[in-house]
Amino acid sequence: MKVFNLRCGKEHAYEGWFASEDDFLSQQERGLVACPLCGDTVVVRLPNASRLKRARQSATPEQQEQTTEMMTLQSQWLRAVREVMALPIPDAIKGPVQ
Ligand SMILES: [Zn+2]
Repeated sequence: MKVFNLRCGKEHAYEGWFASEDDFLSQQERGLVACPLCGDTVVVRLPNASRLKRARQSATPEQQEQTTEMMTLQSQWLRAVREVMALPIPDAIKGPVQ
């Protein structure tokens, strides 16, 4: 899912949720993107970087470190699972061959 900050021709700001950027563009082309307040199909896309930036700034370095650690652990765990899955199944638990 992608969230776009949008604005209509009457300066109403709202969020639009789309499967992808292409989805947004095709809906906009067909006039399917309308302002929830006034129904205006004039859509101005606003950069939504400001919100991301704010979220990043509010996180303390400690929190960021924890997140990185968790991500490392998760990727290690995933790798371990993949290795186990890749192992050949021992004959003993395969059951009788038909
Ligand atoms: Zn509007």
